[in-house]
Amino acid sequence: MKILKIDHLGIAVNNITEGKSFWSDVLGLKFEGSETVEAQKVTTAFFPVGDSEVELLESTSPDGPVAKFIEKKGPGFQHVAFRVENIEEALKELKEKGIQLIDEKPRTGAGGAKIAFLHPKFTGGVLVELCER
Ligand code: ZN
Repeated sequence: MKILKIDHLGIAVNNITEGKSFWSDVLGLKFEGSETVEAQKVTTAFFPVGDSEVELLESTSPDGPVAKFIEKKGPGFQHVAFRVENIEEALKELKEKGIQLIDEKPRTGAGGAKIAFLHPKFTGGVLVELCER
């Protein structure tokens, strides 16, 4: 498996319009617009930082994964995403190493990326996303 870089940090917010004020108004990061990914019941907003990005996540439904996360832990840091060269290969390798996958097969995320999540129980409590663009 080849990890190329940290692609983005995912941050759960109650509301992107409110949530983005810290990232864009205070820190001065450029807001690149938002995108709703219906399959994941989430609206995302990206703020590039050098070669990586900050991704804000707002749930579009009370039963979506981001809404459930906020209900349990409150808003804040939710996941780290690593960009990999070949996501199918990476998932196969992790599975062989005994890591439980939330997504056995990649699905389509924001920006058309291929993404898959690993179970936090097997990563020291951190929700890890792999993505290939
Ligand atoms: Zn993400």
